[in-house]
Amino acid sequence: MDALTNVRYPGNGKNLVEDGMVNDDIRIDGNKVSFSLLFEKPNDPFIKSVVKAAETAILTYVGKDTDIKGNISVVTRQQASPKPAKQLPQVKNIIAVSSGKGGVGKSTVAANLAVALSGLGYRVGLLDADIFGPSQPKMFRVEDARPHMVEVDGRELIEPAENYGVRLLSIGFFVNKEDAVLWRGAMASNALKQLIADANWGELDYFLIDLPPGTSDIHLTMVQTLAVTGAIVVTTPQDVALADARKGVSMFTGDKVNVPVLGLIENMAWFTPAELPENKYYIFGKEGGKRLAEELDIPLLGQIPIVQSIREGGDSGIPVALNTDTITGAAFQSLAKNIVEQVNYRNEHLAPTKQVEVAKN
Ligand code: ADP
Repeated sequence: MDALTNVRYPGNGKNLVEDGMVNDDIRIDGNKVSFSLLFEKPNDPFIKSVVKAAETAILTYVGKDTDIKGNISVVTRQQASPKPAKQLPQVKNIIAVSSGKGGVGKSTVAANLAVALSGLGYRVGLLDADIFGPSQPKMFRVEDARPHMVEVDGRELIEPAENYGVRLLSIGFFVNKEDAVLWRGAMASNALKQLIADANWGELDYFLIDLPPGTSDIHLTMVQTLAVTGAIVVTTPQDVALADARKGVSMFTGDKVNVPVLGLIENMAWFTPAELPENKYYIFGKEGGKRLAEELDIPLLGQIPIVQSIREGGDSGIPVALNTDTITGAAFQSLAKNIVEQVNYRNEHLAPTKQVEVAKN
């Protein structure tokens, strides 16, 4: 590098190091030195003379017996920093399903939403990234699935499990539950990256990610790995849940993450006993999610009541959203329609902003 400060680029008179023209691929192997020089354009008129001057400088300042002739390659700046390939180019919309607090029904909502979207005719994938409690294999009745590898275009890829028209991968398929909760930071993030990049997701209209509750490295990894279309935040109407939901929303809208929030889902909004269908009991408080959505100026995507069949559907692996003739099934279908509407609105009206946001990340 010292030797190369003695060579100037005639185009602007700056030395090569100062001008950032020396690539960071310098290799020294015995007396053999090689590296590449960065030029704006492939037809720069000074390429030949600059390369020659750089060779001379190495011979002069490093040593006459340095093997340098012909070892300097020329690349354009664009070639040197290719844009990172967009992950999942065959996926149209990526939606992060999150919650501030655990136990508010985020995974239940994610599962039923995936099934409802599939019922509307969309191609849907679901990544269970909730390492603290990967529950999607159970909710989709594929607990025993052990995804195998398939070869696609010469690459070995993990084939997602599939049920109810939803393609599914979960950390739960690969480690037992007791081990998964010990995963933290880089280990969990890398495993999830692999489930995104090295899986045969194929063409999808909606790719849902069931995130762990709260805010963590995993949230950062997900939004940095993927161009997330938008996030939805699930909360109950209860004050403690709302406080955490607020934090969840501000994480997405904050500078570090910068993902649009599609809206809030109020789960466990009220309880109606089967024998008193007109009665609504606001066990966790009334309309807390609705008020928070208004306060934060984000859409309220839906209110889902507490219903025994929703819990049973989760436990039996037969999501209520499969049957749109039931009140609960219809509620998830209308939630899915609201999300489609939000996504379409954003894609039509806000696409340029979104791209800027992704670039910043
Ligand atoms: P999270 O993913 O937020 O931790 P889960 O989806 O695992 O929450 O839900 C927690 C528990 O609440 C589960 O037992 C689930 O079956 C139940 N549950 C979630 N939403 C509802 C609902 N709307 N009605 C009845 N039970 C629900």
